[in-house]
Amino acid sequence: MSTVREAIGAARLAGLDRLDAQLLLGHVIGRDRAWLLAHDDETLPARQQAQFDALVNRRRHGEPVAYLLGEKEFHGLALQVDARVLVPRPDTEVLVDWAVELLRHDLAGIERPSVVDLGTGSGAIALAVKHDCPAATLTASDASADALAMAQANARRLGLAVEWVQGSWWSALPGRKFDLALSNPPYIAAGDAHLGALAAEPIAALTPGPSGLEALREIVAGAGTHLRPRAWLLLEHGFDQGEAVRGLLRSAGFTDVQTRQDLGGQPRCTGGRRQP
Ligand code: GLN
Repeated sequence: MSTVREAIGAARLAGLDRLDAQLLLGHVIGRDRAWLLAHDDETLPARQQAQFDALVNRRRHGEPVAYLLGEKEFHGLALQVDARVLVPRPDTEVLVDWAVELLRHDLAGIERPSVVDLGTGSGAIALAVKHDCPAATLTASDASADALAMAQANARRLGLAVEWVQGSWWSALPGRKFDLALSNPPYIAAGDAHLGALAAEPIAALTPGPSGLEALREIVAGAGTHLRPRAWLLLEHGFDQGEAVRGLLRSAGFTDVQTRQDLGGQPRCTGGRRQP
């Protein structure tokens, strides 16, 4: 039998972050972090202690906290997530903020702007944009039927209307044109040491191939036929891929090409506008 304080201490000794340990214990006993802090001398019932120990063990072996909780907050939305989808990252909120800004300013003259999210995973980007810009028409694609099932379930729970289509990048959208295209594609080079720490997440959501740029290239290559004149394309990419992605967009004839930084100050999103 241990107290809340002892259980958190043991989890930290096992290598967990304090925040992770608090989130997992709070999940097991159905309390928030404020309660844990105020009641740290409370004794845990054996059953909850055992449940907590099991989660600590899974976390130690690399499962993301979001999978263990079954939920991740993204841009103010509570999304359900499991091993079928990439865990939405706070850095991707930069892409959503940029999209919302464009819909409220540059694209504000379009009555029902059409927006597409390529490789939607949990649906995070599409759902966050639809939530903030209800007048926009959202379409989201993913090659994975499993991911789409999860995204659709999230949309239903949140009451947000998005059209879901299955297929790789633009192939799911023959003949379709959009005012704004968004994507957080896989961009980690196969063989990158960073992938080891992400082993619990779907590999197809993380790496597109040896260079890391394969999916970004394919999305830019198809953008010409799927974007209306003056439409924007915004892409998330690796911290060291900004220059490459700006080059891809400029070579494809995009104007207003620019890069924005993530929360850690790294170049993370690059976008441009199709010429009129
Ligand atoms: N940003 C994620 C990471 O590096 C990767 C996501 C992606 O490949 N799109 O942890």
